[in-house]
Amino acid sequence: MVEVLTYDRSRIGLYVPTRELIQELPKPELHTHLDGAVAYDLVHAFIRQMSSSERKKAKNEIRKDLLSERIRHELAKDKPLSRIEARKKAEEYLKKTYDPINFDEISIDEVKRFMVAGEDCKGLNDFLMKFPFPLYFMQTETHLYNVAYRFIEECHKDGITYVEVRFAPTLHTKKGLTYQEIFNAVTTGLKDAKEKYGVESRLIVCGLRYDSEDVVTAINIARKYKEYGIVAVDIAGPERGFPVKDHSKVLTEVVGSGLRITIHAGEAYDPPSIRQALTYGHANRIGHGTSLVKDSALFEYVIDQRIPLEVCVSSNIITMGISLESHPVRLFAKLQTRWFLNTDDRSIIDTTLTDEYLNAANSFGWGLEMIVKGILNGYKSAFLPHAEKNEMFQKARTKIKQIAPKLNI
Ligand SMILES: [Zn+2]
Repeated sequence: MVEVLTYDRSRIGLYVPTRELIQELPKPELHTHLDGAVAYDLVHAFIRQMSSSERKKAKNEIRKDLLSERIRHELAKDKPLSRIEARKKAEEYLKKTYDPINFDEISIDEVKRFMVAGEDCKGLNDFLMKFPFPLYFMQTETHLYNVAYRFIEECHKDGITYVEVRFAPTLHTKKGLTYQEIFNAVTTGLKDAKEKYGVESRLIVCGLRYDSEDVVTAINIARKYKEYGIVAVDIAGPERGFPVKDHSKVLTEVVGSGLRITIHAGEAYDPPSIRQALTYGHANRIGHGTSLVKDSALFEYVIDQRIPLEVCVSSNIITMGISLESHPVRLFAKLQTRWFLNTDDRSIIDTTLTDEYLNAANSFGWGLEMIVKGILNGYKSAFLPHAEKNEMFQKARTKIKQIAPKLNI
């Protein structure tokens, strides 16, 4: 006689990674630029607050910034245009995209359309062109305070519990702010928002790799203002033609000084850029690391040494022109690299961390377990003192267990 087995439905341990579920999971974000995360309605409110003559002035000043940025990128290309041609091309671009905007009657939608890297954005050059606009609204203490406060509010909505937010202080001195004023305004915004939303944050100071002096300045600033919650320095900017080797001396001095190092590498250049970040740059984490799959020996080293990879999928899709389906994060996850997802620039890309995990899960057929793996990798990779990091990791793990009790973590 065949025995009829008992079915225990309480043992069901599968979870469909829906938006609601992913949003609810406590998540860390470790690669996010403050100037790429300015809320659209906040920029709109800043513009509305201006008098008509201030708006006119702002529009002209932003135009100048956009023009020089565009010309600089045209001249930095492999086959650069002449200065006159570059200027002509930049002028044409602005006439089409920027000049029609009327600051007196601008809507939140128009602000958004201008800030987001949409269909007009073809590659890293166009992407970088999006930054002068939000940066213009990050030059006073009030603006910086509001941007930082609002940033934490958005993180909270996204289910982020810990964030390491980065910016280049040298880009916020256009209207005469001192570094002390910049850090005071940003950290007060982060702190006030933490009281309301409970999101913990730390700062990373970015140095621009095409300017050796800027890297030295960034490292000195990070050292001097460390008590503001600065945990690391980052080397950002175009990789091609600007090797990390050039900054090796100053980065060596950072090792063991109480600050950590993360370097944008393998985003816009091949594996040698990642190799240099690890050797000459002493990177504790790699920003992007997308080209890692092109060098199997280096890839194996990164896996074996548990070197964290700050993966920014949507950002790569826009700047590198690759598809989600072909993104190497699928392999990073499969081979148990210490990977985790990030937005990079949530406002420029119009994304959230929840979206990043959801899109990857939908595209690669990931279950909730894989998403949680990425999330826990992120907590493990935070630039916090070991005991503090461990406590945060355990807290997040407990919360995830409460949300999905049958998950095998
Ligand atoms: Zn970045």
